Amino acid sequence: MDAQKDVQPPKQQPMIYICGECHTENEIKARDPIRCRECGYRIMYKKRTKRCILLNSVSAALIFLFAAIFHRKIIAAKQKKKNLM
Ligand SMILES: [Zn+2]
Repeated sequence: MDAQKDVQPPKQQPMIYICGECHTENEIKARDPIRCRECGYRIMYKKRTKRCILLNSVSAALIFLFAAIFHRKIIAAKQKKKNLM
């Protein structure tokens, strides 16, 4: 929900995305879901940057996973310090 505003550009200008499956150009506005209108495939590429745009839920899950791993490392480092003292 809140994660969407980080991904979408602030302008109302629609972006052109290329479908990762059928390579159809899709004009997607800020509030539209990232999904191919031809085949329904959910992995789209920005036409200009060619950077892969994943589903918001997928990227959110990845961020959560990395955060969890990172957090665990910090806790482990803190415990090591405590043990040394
Ligand atoms: Zn497609």
